[in-house]
Amino acid sequence: MQSIYKYIFILSLIVLISKLNFGQSSGCPLVNNPQRLSINNQNSLLSICNDWNTYTTLNDNTNIKYVRIAYHLFNKNDGTGNIPNNPTNRQMLHDFTYFYINNKMNNLSVMNLPTSSPHIADSKIQFVLDTIYFWNDTFGWDGTIDNQVPAGSEKGDSLYTTYVVNKHGVKNKYTTLHVFISGLGGNVNGHGGGQAKWFGAKEWVLVNSIYQAYLNNTMWNASGLLRHELGHALGLYHSWSGDNCNDTPNNPNCWDNTQPGCNPNSNNTMDYNVSQDALTRCQINTVHYFLLGNQGNISDCIISGVNVTTPIVSGPTSICNPNGSNYTINNLQLGVNDNATAYPSTLFQNADICGGPVINFKPASTASSGGAILTFTTGFGVYGNTFITKRVWVGTRPSVLNVCSFTNNPQIYGATTINSPGTGCTSTSVPLNQDVTFIAETTNLNPGFEVPLGATFEVIPEIISCQ
Ligand SMILES: [Zn+2]
Repeated sequence: MQSIYKYIFILSLIVLISKLNFGQSSGCPLVNNPQRLSINNQNSLLSICNDWNTYTTLNDNTNIKYVRIAYHLFNKNDGTGNIPNNPTNRQMLHDFTYFYINNKMNNLSVMNLPTSSPHIADSKIQFVLDTIYFWNDTFGWDGTIDNQVPAGSEKGDSLYTTYVVNKHGVKNKYTTLHVFISGLGGNVNGHGGGQAKWFGAKEWVLVNSIYQAYLNNTMWNASGLLRHELGHALGLYHSWSGDNCNDTPNNPNCWDNTQPGCNPNSNNTMDYNVSQDALTRCQINTVHYFLLGNQGNISDCIISGVNVTTPIVSGPTSICNPNGSNYTINNLQLGVNDNATAYPSTLFQNADICGGPVINFKPASTASSGGAILTFTTGFGVYGNTFITKRVWVGTRPSVLNVCSFTNNPQIYGATTINSPGTGCTSTSVPLNQDVTFIAETTNLNPGFEVPLGATFEVIPEIISCQ
């Protein structure tokens, strides 16, 4: 596990060196701190319920999640060497965030390269620039982190300790994603290098191109790098290095615009390219998954937008077609995981299903028959799970059922016509603490039928239909 990580680590270094040979650096060389979460651990956490590609996005159901960020601009010790602190420039940095970061996150481009992902224009992620800090520190000003790994990560950790953890007056220290903006490094065209603390980590990201972009009016190019580093902080891997998403580009060359032979190159945010303005369904789901606190600690920086909802499920009461019945979760959101189970499991081919929003339950065989309880659970990470149950009838039903006692498990009774008390008895009482359901086209509750306090009884009028 550790050795696999090192292999990827070394591979990234080779990639970085090859990039420098082409005389261009865009995007970040790698993320640091292998002790915190190994690549293999990441994979093991992504069990089948976390395979984002099985989830169809119902984008409109997801509220916008607002993530608090702060900018820390580092001058040299003499106070020069970065964007000067004045009202005009502070407004410029707010505008930069609004127009080049947020207005791209809610208006993402179509992927240049083939993908199985639908185009999701609005990621439902927005950043709130809380505070802009200006510091005089030549160590922080020097952002020439490329090919100095792990110098970039050590620099970021050091700056975080000095200017966040130990600095009085820094607001919302541990509920803000801190963006360190160096003054040295990057290219006049606005491209440069950056570093992120770790996947889904709230502490910091570091970028070295914004001052160059400010001087040369190339802020748009610098915004791609910042979106990329923010992507790491929100939980995204490079698309070419095992990102657990099969809808991101796999071509070993096209992720990097310095490599020949690809036209067009990728424009994915988590590749190296001049655009970095597209995300796939899997990537957007992954970000929301992290923001629900399932992994990392970036969820601490959420200001608002988490909306915990109970699943709303539509679907038939009968499962009598051999192809099964479809159930649709109508309010599934980005980043949640969904699990549907059926009891008793022996009635079904598969009684434990992940995915959504459409879930298909198939009878075990044409001979299967009986009442069943379907449970649909939606996971909201640290905010908990919500669920809803649905009572159904599987397979064929008798034409007439006379109910005198309640012995089924679960307590579900199905027929075309149900009589209770029926032939053979004069009184029937629903057992205490039991939840009894009749599923029938016609239900005759005759004199002598009782529902005592503490018991629950329900009739679902349902004609047999096996489309
Ligand atoms: Zn990167």
